Amino acid sequence: MENVLATKTSPVNKTAHAFDKPRLEALLNRRFFYAPAFEIYGGVAGLYDYGPPGSSLQANIISEWRKHFIIEDHMLELDTSIMTPAPVFETSGHVARFADWMVKDVKTGDVLRADHLVKNVLEARLASDKEARGLAAQPAEADEKDKKKKKKKDQAKKAPVQIPDATVTEYEHILAQLDNYTGPDLGELCRKHSITNPDTDNEVSEPQEFNLMFTSSIGPTGQHPGYLRPETAQSHFLNFSRLLEFNNGRIPFASAQIGRSFRNEISPRAGLLRVREFTMAEIEHYVDPEDKRHERFHEVRNTQLDFLDRHVQVAGSTQVARMTIGEAVEKGIVANETLGYFIARIYLFLIKIGIDPSRLRFRQHMANEMAHYATDCWDAEIQSSYGWVECVGCADRAAYDLSVHSAKTGHALVVRQALKEPIVTEKEVAEFNKKNLGKNFGRDSAVIQTIIGNMDEVMLLKLKGELAQGAATITSPEGKEFKLTPDLLTIERKTFKQSIREYTPNVIEPSFGLGRILYSLLEHSFWSREQDVERGVLSLPAVVAPTKVLIVPLSAKEEFDPLVQEVSSKLRKAGVFSRVDDSNTSIGKRYARNDELGTPFGLTLDFACKLALPNPIF
Ligand code: AMP
Repeated sequence: MENVLATKTSPVNKTAHAFDKPRLEALLNRRFFYAPAFEIYGGVAGLYDYGPPGSSLQANIISEWRKHFIIEDHMLELDTSIMTPAPVFETSGHVARFADWMVKDVKTGDVLRADHLVKNVLEARLASDKEARGLAAQPAEADEKDKKKKKKKDQAKKAPVQIPDATVTEYEHILAQLDNYTGPDLGELCRKHSITNPDTDNEVSEPQEFNLMFTSSIGPTGQHPGYLRPETAQSHFLNFSRLLEFNNGRIPFASAQIGRSFRNEISPRAGLLRVREFTMAEIEHYVDPEDKRHERFHEVRNTQLDFLDRHVQVAGSTQVARMTIGEAVEKGIVANETLGYFIARIYLFLIKIGIDPSRLRFRQHMANEMAHYATDCWDAEIQSSYGWVECVGCADRAAYDLSVHSAKTGHALVVRQALKEPIVTEKEVAEFNKKNLGKNFGRDSAVIQTIIGNMDEVMLLKLKGELAQGAATITSPEGKEFKLTPDLLTIERKTFKQSIREYTPNVIEPSFGLGRILYSLLEHSFWSREQDVERGVLSLPAVVAPTKVLIVPLSAKEEFDPLVQEVSSKLRKAGVFSRVDDSNTSIGKRYARNDELGTPFGLTLDFACKLALPNPIF
């Protein structure tokens, strides 16, 4: 008896045929990985529906994410409301600052994102310059169809233009720190470098801010404005007290949530990479601001990563430095162990699900680029045909969010920690004889108490000394003088015992956009065989592949049915997703067809297997 259980896709051989984006896109569309939502109504930019393989792939990525992060680090999972009342985002700063810069075509009114416009135009000029200098990469050997398409494209294209060396350097410098420019900076760049709308050649307006949140209203009166959340994070923070209690008051700990977020992107392009509705997976890790060590850091210390820090970018370069995360934390490139732990864990997760490590880097945000809540931020960027794209953000949000929500609501979002050893302190304290003070100074007695209440230890000691001599004079900020005598106040040294420490924790936040990861993974897994360029292969790792096993009976004859049923049922019972392909075509064709779906294992049922019935075959 012989049964065949073999990995159907050969070891990843992405060089077999150069990456062909139109072919990948055609495959993803034809096999319904995802497609524009509301397509038969004409579609809406930035909204997509996932079909069967896309949905399974995303579900499997999420399942691995839950294992890798939530289970591994005992995180507390949440599932919170998407519709959010306006005061929450007013307090968090999103209403005022969650915005991108847009420009308008002065004639057509077309809207473009300012930084994307500068990037696209300068990159196109650099590419044209390279072509003019004969430095452009030669395309891979093309088939007849490709050649025809290319000829048509070439005819429509403008002739390459060479630019001076100094301009090339200047453009490269601008592109390296593009994310650091403010709106007015971008306007200045458009003027200085004559950047116009590439579709019309018209000038563009000065950049204006555009808030990315979708507005709504809650209830029938229209009096309660709301927003669709642009991130899941705020609800983690609002539930902090409950989470802390659930965790028995102990810190550090993390909450985690997988859910939808919405951003009204200015001009969504690049498929799943920039959409208006997407699934996020976010972790909020709460840590003592005075101790950002991580008890499991030693487990990841030796993980080697490519870093692109802010100083390198500001100097106009994109040269990465390769080192271990341990070294990066020791050198202060990455601010602390907790941030470092998550950066390494993000890397390990992405590699596990099939992202090519040589196309993954960690880029630090520059000062102007940082979100309003962050004190440090590193993006996991994945390279695809769209360039280097942020797929995971990892920010140190410090105490920002918890503090602002506490201040607004009066609900203390703090940790109260019983101290093992109470802290004993001594300090000078002023006690007032309010009756005498009122008699002498009337309304000004409150001013006097405030002035003395604001004094530090040194000033109080000086005042104490003067009072011991019989009298002292203090002055208000407005310059009014008050003469004080010992019958009005005394200053004494007192002992204080503190047995509780109260503080607002800092938050380290890894934030994943699943669509970007999923698309990058599809690009990294896609290749085609020399002998079958038309049909692509997706070499997805088994953990995330939508279908794990393809069952292929050698013959379509009915006599194979019981065997197919048996194998299929066994796999089903073991929780392994399988598909049967018993069509009349050759085994090779059937394998090839399922290569497109990224199915990693093939199980061929031959006549020997069939003869083995009714004995179990595995
Ligand atoms: P951010 O809060 O802007 O750092 O975004 C966190 C993550 O969400 C990013 O790393 C992306 O993976 C993802 N993301 C943000 N905006 C979009 C978008 N418009 N389309 C798809 N994914 C997005």
